[in-house]
Amino acid sequence: MKKHNFSAGPCILPQEVFQEASQAILDFNNSGLSILEISHRSKDFVDVMDEARNLALELLGLEGLGYKALFLQGGASTQFLMTAYNLLQTKAGYLNTGTWSDKSIKEAKLFGDIIEVASSKDANYKYIPKGFVLPEGLDYLHLTSNNTIFGTQIKNFPEVDCPLICDMSSDIFSRKLDFSKFDLIYAGAQKNMGPAGTTLVVIREDILGKVTRAIPSMLDYKTHISKGSMFNTPSVYAVYVSMLTMRWLKAKGGIDAIEEINDRKAGLLYSEIELNPLFTGFAAKEDRSSMNATFSLTDGDLKETFDAMWKEAGINGLNGHRSVGGYRASMYNAMSLESVGTLVDVMSELERKA
Ligand code: PMP
Repeated sequence: MKKHNFSAGPCILPQEVFQEASQAILDFNNSGLSILEISHRSKDFVDVMDEARNLALELLGLEGLGYKALFLQGGASTQFLMTAYNLLQTKAGYLNTGTWSDKSIKEAKLFGDIIEVASSKDANYKYIPKGFVLPEGLDYLHLTSNNTIFGTQIKNFPEVDCPLICDMSSDIFSRKLDFSKFDLIYAGAQKNMGPAGTTLVVIREDILGKVTRAIPSMLDYKTHISKGSMFNTPSVYAVYVSMLTMRWLKAKGGIDAIEEINDRKAGLLYSEIELNPLFTGFAAKEDRSSMNATFSLTDGDLKETFDAMWKEAGINGLNGHRSVGGYRASMYNAMSLESVGTLVDVMSELERKA
């Protein structure tokens, strides 16, 4: 039986994508070759890369606005340093909203002065700091739109007069935003976009070329832009599956349509967390993520029973991250409302039993 997969990442992807992607391993485009054995310079794959780059810009509404889309390797973690390497000359601002922001700060400190404009670290990142004042003369401001571990999400983005960089690893393509407010967006594929192994970078080209340091070719955005993301061998299969997932999203009606479903899924689960006295939410209500819901049992003695019940219902990947504990239900784009309904049924069944 196919599981209801609430895993935080790598995670659920559309079933149709799994089917098409597995077929391409056996015979890609009726070529008599597997996608795993073709050259990345072959027309068949160059077409995939072009379509993937175009779909990313199209879904984000950024076509014709001076942005380039790249599919790079090294995960979002490499973007923590690549952003600073390419864009930090003197000082940059960072909003510290979780473990991943904290890690991006650590890397950026190797390249210049980092000003933590606000942090919720003291409250174990339960909320998104607001109302902070930005210092003058920042090379950029760096944000993490969705904090995968803590289940918080930025709802209102600050107005800034410097370039805005955002790690959207765990909520890319999940909700409508004015993406043209951002100068650089990056996202590891392995949540809403595809399998692990590639990282989407969407960058406004005119923010580059302003730092004086020498940048190694592989870490220089300009290298990858000039070669259409083909400077070296890309993660062929991860880019292909990401392209299929973006095609799937486009066919579903794009971000507008998926946001509506994502809101219904999150609404269903959060109302159960609020109404069921056996559960309590972790994140501040106004900052709750529509992708990752963090919660725990109010009575720890029920853990064994609850764990057995959700496993019995075919649910996978519900354990919280060790730095929060409790449970985390990740409801990425490919998760159905029915799967969230299954979890909610188990939660209310526990209330009836207890
Ligand atoms: N940023 C966020 C918001 C994440 O959730 C993650 C990983 N889950 C990362 C960065 C790190 O990504 P990677 O493992 O691709 O380096």
